[in-house]
Amino acid sequence: MGQIIVLDQNMVNMIAAGEVVERPASVVKELMENSIDAGATKITVSVEDGGRKLISVADDGCGMDAEDIARAFEPHTTSKIKTSADLQGISTLGFRGEALASIASVAQVRAVSRTPDSTQANYIEIDCGNKGGVSPCSADFGTTIHIRDLFYKLPARRKFLKTANTETSHIIEQFTRVALGFYFVSDPALHNKQQGAAGRNLDLTLIHNGRELYRLSGKQILRQRIGELFPMLPAGASEDFIEAESSERGLHIFVLLGTPGVSRTSNKFQYIFLNGRFIRDKFISHAIKEAYRGLLEPDRFPVVFLFVGMPYEDYDVNVHPTKIEVRFYNANLVYSQVLACLREKLLSTNLETYAKLPAKETPPAAGHRDQRITDAIAEFLKRHRPAQARQAGASPERHFPAVHAGAGQVAESISQPASKTGDEQRRFIQIHDSFIVAQTDDGFVIIDQHALHERIIYEYLRRRISTGSLESQKLLMPESFEISEGLADVIEGNAELFEKLGIELVPFGPRTMAIQAFPSLLANVAPLDFVRDLIDLLDRKVAGPDAEKLLEEVLNMAACKAAVKAGQKLSDSEIEQLLTDKGLAESVSRCPHGRPTTIKFSISELEKQFKRT
Ligand code: ADP
Ligand code: MG
Repeated sequence: MGQIIVLDQNMVNMIAAGEVVERPASVVKELMENSIDAGATKITVSVEDGGRKLISVADDGCGMDAEDIARAFEPHTTSKIKTSADLQGISTLGFRGEALASIASVAQVRAVSRTPDSTQANYIEIDCGNKGGVSPCSADFGTTIHIRDLFYKLPARRKFLKTANTETSHIIEQFTRVALGFYFVSDPALHNKQQGAAGRNLDLTLIHNGRELYRLSGKQILRQRIGELFPMLPAGASEDFIEAESSERGLHIFVLLGTPGVSRTSNKFQYIFLNGRFIRDKFISHAIKEAYRGLLEPDRFPVVFLFVGMPYEDYDVNVHPTKIEVRFYNANLVYSQVLACLREKLLSTNLETYAKLPAKETPPAAGHRDQRITDAIAEFLKRHRPAQARQAGASPERHFPAVHAGAGQVAESISQPASKTGDEQRRFIQIHDSFIVAQTDDGFVIIDQHALHERIIYEYLRRRISTGSLESQKLLMPESFEISEGLADVIEGNAELFEKLGIELVPFGPRTMAIQAFPSLLANVAPLDFVRDLIDLLDRKVAGPDAEKLLEEVLNMAACKAAVKAGQKLSDSEIEQLLTDKGLAESVSRCPHGRPTTIKFSISELEKQFKRT
């Protein structure tokens, strides 16, 4: 007997829902997109308990009549495409005709809608696929859809939902994408620079448990809106975010580029929009990375808001159920134009203060490295001469952020390095302001100053933290910063870690915190930058809290920030300090990222190279 049966429609919808409806935030995305497609100018999203209890989205769009509202929740029903030819140029956010049917198959739904030319509204209720009839009611024009108890008949799916806080932060993320996407979505050929389609943006509100999280006015220009959505980014400042624009061969680009000073530890702050749709695209991401090459340290990611406009026929959105990926017909053009537009702007902007550091810090390719080592040896042999013969280094007054700054008991036990004793010559030099070449008993070593210092600080931090907290120092002036709702929870959830690190944060006003105390060991690190990056890092780790690994990452970050950089001239006493610390530290041969800190050369090797043996 045949084993195969045809699944009933509700089962089909539930299975489809697995693709489209992953969590409450997916529902928010689909409903907001429908509202935009319906021509809304105002959307209010209200959620309860992270969207698990209720999600409601109300708009003032074109609405639906009785016939349409009944049909909208059937599978494969859409007003956005009619023939296969329409698939060639999708101008709406939706087109697959499956979102409402999928959502209605896994939750309790009530939809109310009224078209502007009708005096009466209609509503329909659906409980996990069981549809009631359409009945008249009274309501404003537009559409409101309430989704209650998502996945309540699917315990396995419901179990996968995270805490209300986590779900809310996903909702905020989707809300943010829609709120930004609507910029530059007029006719892609025209591109009204300031506003969206109707010459203005949308009024958008997000409410959680009755509390208003965001109320964004349609009159906002892009920078203002980014400022509201990301209070921690200095989006309004023209020196922190620069604009670039280019238009060639039907491809229009507008981009707001964060300078290296506002870079982050993840690429979470890279928003790419294509004709109003938030997308992820590996070509564009790569182009962004390339554009910043040499301007950022390797573990930093730029903050970028990129808006691409192009004819709808030039790409396919029908490749991913949630339409987050597209296929460009000419991906090379997109890549090269994005890269050229960003790169030109970055290189023609005065970013000097930052550009110096990282260029030398990128881990060199193998061939490259050999060359650098050869150069280093040549330099060493050429320049190795007594201290007094060499011109003076950096100002001797400069405070060297050695680990012993806040660690009296370790510092006292240090014996002076050989180079200091009596008439001994100095046995090291700094080359290219990045490497230190130092003589050893049986040859010499080349030290990567940043990598070594980073390692020493890391080890020291580790030791201190394993026996208690880091010493901290009260800031003379507490430094305040704004945080979003989700990040407040991140701070609260990691209170113990902050304490261990010696960072004291206190509430300082609505959505504002202040740094009151900061570890003395990180005295040369800007507290505000550090705390922001730390919160970013903790935010990313919310899903899998492996405390030990997290701590390691935090300490890595702290060490990297506190260490001297490549490109920084060191005075003789600073180099001596570094060499002394190297002698004391336990395992300094690799920096915390795994790169070597020191390369050794023995006399016998040299003799072999020079054919003396
Ligand atoms: P799609 O958006 O892919 O067409 P959906 O299942 O999301 O599919 O929606 C089905 C149809 O319901 C839409 O094509 C649209 O005609 C109608 N619709 C959905 N939401 C709204 C809304 N907020 N206002 C007016 N019409 C809507
Ligand atoms: Mg839709």
